[in-house]
Amino acid sequence: MNKKLFVISGCSGVGKGTVINEFMKRNKDFILSVSCTTRKPRQGEVDGVNYFFITKEQFENNIQEEKFLEYAQFADNYYGTKKRYIKEKFEEGFNIILEIETNGALQVKEKMPEAVLIFIAPPSVEELEKRLRGRHTEDEETIQKRLAQVKIELERSKNYDYTVINDNIERVVNEIESIVKSNDTK
Ligand code: 5GP
Repeated sequence: MNKKLFVISGCSGVGKGTVINEFMKRNKDFILSVSCTTRKPRQGEVDGVNYFFITKEQFENNIQEEKFLEYAQFADNYYGTKKRYIKEKFEEGFNIILEIETNGALQVKEKMPEAVLIFIAPPSVEELEKRLRGRHTEDEETIQKRLAQVKIELERSKNYDYTVINDNIERVVNEIESIVKSNDTK
Protein backbone atom coordinates (compact mmCIF):
# COMPACT_ATOMS: atom_id res chain seq x y z
CA MET A 1 0.00 0.00 0.00
CA ASN A 2 1.43 3.34 -1.05
CA LYS A 3 -1.33 5.85 -0.44
CA LYS A 4 -0.48 9.48 -1.02
CA LEU A 5 -1.55 12.88 0.13
CA PHE A 6 -1.93 15.66 -2.44
CA VAL A 7 -2.45 19.25 -1.41
CA ILE A 8 -4.23 21.53 -3.85
CA SER A 9 -4.27 25.28 -3.30
CA GLY A 10 -5.25 28.21 -5.42
CA CYS A 11 -6.32 31.80 -5.03
CA SER A 12 -9.98 32.46 -4.08
CA GLY A 13 -12.19 32.21 -7.15
CA VAL A 14 -9.59 30.45 -9.27
CA GLY A 15 -12.04 27.63 -9.94
CA LYS A 16 -10.26 24.99 -7.89
CA GLY A 17 -13.56 23.64 -6.56
CA THR A 18 -14.72 22.79 -10.08
CA VAL A 19 -11.35 21.27 -10.96
CA ILE A 20 -11.31 19.14 -7.81
CA ASN A 21 -14.93 17.98 -8.29
CA GLU A 22 -14.11 16.83 -11.81
CA PHE A 23 -10.94 15.09 -10.59
CA MET A 24 -12.87 13.34 -7.79
CA LYS A 25 -15.54 12.08 -10.25
CA ARG A 26 -12.85 10.43 -12.33
CA ASN A 27 -10.65 9.07 -9.51
CA LYS A 28 -12.65 6.97 -7.07
CA ASP A 29 -9.62 5.88 -5.02
CA PHE A 30 -9.26 9.48 -3.85
CA ILE A 31 -11.09 11.20 -1.03
CA LEU A 32 -11.43 14.94 -0.51
CA SER A 33 -10.55 15.74 3.09
CA VAL A 34 -13.23 17.50 5.16
CA SER A 35 -11.70 20.34 7.19
CA CYS A 36 -12.82 22.03 10.37
CA THR A 37 -13.69 25.71 10.17
CA THR A 38 -15.10 28.49 12.32
CA ARG A 39 -16.63 30.15 9.23
CA LYS A 40 -20.44 30.16 9.02
CA PRO A 41 -21.92 27.72 6.50
CA ARG A 42 -22.80 29.23 3.12
CA GLN A 43 -26.19 28.44 1.65
CA GLY A 44 -26.37 24.77 0.76
CA GLU A 45 -23.28 23.76 2.75
CA VAL A 46 -23.75 20.74 5.01
CA ASP A 47 -21.94 20.04 8.29
CA GLY A 48 -19.68 17.00 7.95
CA VAL A 49 -19.82 17.15 4.14
CA ASN A 50 -18.36 20.51 3.11
CA TYR A 51 -16.75 21.24 6.48
CA PHE A 52 -17.06 20.37 10.13
CA PHE A 53 -18.45 23.71 11.32
CA ILE A 54 -17.19 24.32 14.86
CA THR A 55 -16.94 27.28 17.24
CA LYS A 56 -13.84 29.39 17.79
CA GLU A 57 -13.60 27.97 21.30
CA GLN A 58 -13.74 24.36 20.06
CA PHE A 59 -11.14 25.18 17.40
CA GLU A 60 -8.77 26.76 19.93
CA ASN A 61 -9.14 23.77 22.25
CA ASN A 62 -8.18 21.49 19.35
CA ILE A 63 -5.09 23.65 18.71
CA GLN A 64 -4.09 23.37 22.38
CA GLU A 65 -4.53 19.59 22.27
CA GLU A 66 -2.43 19.39 19.06
CA LYS A 67 -5.23 17.71 17.12
CA PHE A 68 -4.40 19.44 13.82
CA LEU A 69 -1.98 18.28 11.12
CA GLU A 70 -2.11 21.92 10.00
CA TYR A 71 -4.29 24.95 10.56
CA ALA A 72 -4.41 28.58 9.50
CA GLN A 73 -6.37 31.77 9.88
CA PHE A 74 -7.88 32.98 6.63
CA ALA A 75 -10.19 35.98 6.16
CA ASP A 76 -10.91 36.15 9.94
CA ASN A 77 -11.71 32.47 10.38
CA TYR A 78 -9.80 29.37 11.39
CA TYR A 79 -9.46 26.40 9.04
CA GLY A 80 -7.70 23.14 9.87
CA THR A 81 -7.17 19.47 9.04
CA LYS A 82 -7.46 16.92 11.84
CA LYS A 83 -4.59 14.41 12.17
CA ARG A 84 -7.06 11.66 13.11
CA TYR A 85 -9.19 12.25 10.01
CA ILE A 86 -6.16 11.78 7.72
CA LYS A 87 -5.02 8.67 9.60
CA GLU A 88 -8.49 7.10 9.28
CA LYS A 89 -8.78 7.81 5.55
CA PHE A 90 -5.35 6.27 4.88
CA GLU A 91 -6.42 3.23 6.91
CA GLU A 92 -9.57 2.99 4.78
CA GLY A 93 -7.27 2.78 1.73
CA PHE A 94 -7.81 6.18 0.12
CA ASN A 95 -5.41 8.60 -1.47
CA ILE A 96 -6.24 12.00 -0.01
CA ILE A 97 -6.68 15.46 -1.48
CA LEU A 98 -6.46 18.45 0.85
CA GLU A 99 -7.96 21.61 -0.60
CA ILE A 100 -6.33 24.16 1.69
CA GLU A 101 -4.62 27.54 1.59
CA THR A 102 -0.86 28.03 1.25
CA ASN A 103 0.13 28.55 4.88
CA GLY A 104 -1.41 25.21 5.88
CA ALA A 105 0.01 23.50 2.78
CA LEU A 106 3.56 24.42 3.75
CA GLN A 107 2.95 23.08 7.29
CA VAL A 108 1.87 19.76 5.74
CA LYS A 109 5.02 19.63 3.60
CA GLU A 110 7.15 20.16 6.70
CA LYS A 111 5.46 17.34 8.63
CA MET A 112 4.97 15.02 5.64
CA PRO A 113 7.70 15.72 3.05
CA GLU A 114 6.25 12.96 0.84
CA ALA A 115 3.06 15.03 0.35
CA VAL A 116 2.74 16.55 -3.14
CA LEU A 117 1.83 20.24 -3.35
CA ILE A 118 -0.04 21.50 -6.42
CA PHE A 119 -0.91 25.16 -6.91
CA ILE A 120 -3.70 26.22 -9.28
CA ALA A 121 -2.95 29.69 -10.63
CA PRO A 122 -5.37 31.99 -12.48
CA PRO A 123 -4.61 32.95 -16.10
CA SER A 124 -4.48 36.55 -14.78
CA VAL A 125 -5.32 38.50 -11.60
CA GLU A 126 -7.99 40.54 -13.50
CA GLU A 127 -9.73 37.34 -14.56
CA LEU A 128 -9.65 36.14 -10.98
CA GLU A 129 -11.28 39.30 -9.61
CA LYS A 130 -14.06 38.93 -12.19
CA ARG A 131 -14.75 35.34 -11.11
CA LEU A 132 -14.69 36.26 -7.41
CA ARG A 133 -17.29 39.01 -7.90
CA GLY A 134 -19.38 36.78 -10.16
CA ARG A 135 -19.92 34.31 -7.31
CA HIS A 136 -21.96 36.89 -5.31
CA THR A 137 -21.22 34.99 -2.10
CA GLU A 138 -19.04 37.60 -0.33
CA ASP A 139 -19.44 41.28 0.53
CA GLU A 140 -17.05 43.97 -0.75
CA GLU A 141 -14.85 43.98 2.36
CA THR A 142 -14.37 40.24 2.16
CA ILE A 143 -13.57 40.46 -1.56
CA GLN A 144 -10.90 43.11 -0.86
CA LYS A 145 -9.34 40.95 1.85
CA ARG A 146 -9.31 37.95 -0.44
CA LEU A 147 -7.67 39.91 -3.27
CA ALA A 148 -4.93 41.06 -0.91
CA GLN A 149 -4.44 37.42 -0.02
CA VAL A 150 -3.94 36.55 -3.71
CA LYS A 151 -0.56 38.26 -3.80
CA ILE A 152 0.65 36.46 -0.71
CA GLU A 153 -0.52 33.12 -2.07
CA LEU A 154 1.14 33.62 -5.47
CA GLU A 155 4.40 34.35 -3.63
CA ARG A 156 4.10 31.23 -1.45
CA SER A 157 3.27 29.06 -4.48
CA LYS A 158 6.95 29.25 -5.40
CA ASN A 159 7.53 26.57 -2.75
CA TYR A 160 5.04 24.14 -4.32
CA ASP A 161 6.03 21.02 -6.26
CA TYR A 162 3.81 21.98 -9.22
CA THR A 163 1.95 25.04 -10.50
CA VAL A 164 -0.81 24.56 -13.06
CA ILE A 165 -2.67 27.38 -14.84
CA ASN A 166 -6.46 27.06 -14.86
CA ASP A 167 -7.16 28.22 -18.40
CA ASN A 168 -9.42 25.24 -19.19
CA ILE A 169 -11.01 22.74 -16.77
CA GLU A 170 -10.51 19.65 -18.90
CA ARG A 171 -6.86 20.47 -19.57
CA VAL A 172 -6.09 21.26 -15.94
CA VAL A 173 -7.73 18.05 -14.67
CA ASN A 174 -5.69 16.04 -17.20
CA GLU A 175 -2.54 17.78 -16.00
CA ILE A 176 -3.32 16.96 -12.36
CA GLU A 177 -3.98 13.34 -13.33
CA SER A 178 -0.57 13.07 -14.95
CA ILE A 179 1.05 14.60 -11.86
CA VAL A 180 -0.77 12.01 -9.73
CA LYS A 181 0.33 9.14 -12.02
CA SER A 182 3.94 10.28 -11.95
CA ASN A 183 3.79 10.10 -8.12
CA ASP A 184 2.74 6.41 -7.91
CA THR A 185 -0.42 6.07 -5.82
CA LYS A 186 -1.04 2.32 -6.18
P1 5GP B 1 -13.75 28.96 1.93
O1 5GP B 1 -14.15 29.84 3.07
O2 5GP B 1 -13.89 29.66 0.59
O3 5GP B 1 -14.44 27.62 1.95
O4 5GP B 1 -12.20 28.64 2.11
C1 5GP B 1 -11.29 29.69 2.27
C2 5GP B 1 -9.89 29.16 2.16
O5 5GP B 1 -9.60 28.25 3.22
C3 5GP B 1 -9.62 28.40 0.86
O6 5GP B 1 -8.39 28.87 0.33
C4 5GP B 1 -9.50 26.97 1.31
O7 5GP B 1 -8.62 26.26 0.47
C5 5GP B 1 -8.92 27.14 2.70
N1 5GP B 1 -9.12 25.97 3.56
C6 5GP B 1 -10.18 25.14 3.63
N2 5GP B 1 -9.97 24.18 4.53
C7 5GP B 1 -8.73 24.39 5.05
C8 5GP B 1 -7.93 23.71 6.03
O8 5GP B 1 -8.29 22.71 6.61
N3 5GP B 1 -6.71 24.25 6.31
C9 5GP B 1 -6.24 25.36 5.67
N4 5GP B 1 -5.03 25.76 6.00
N5 5GP B 1 -6.96 26.02 4.77
C10 5GP B 1 -8.19 25.54 4.45
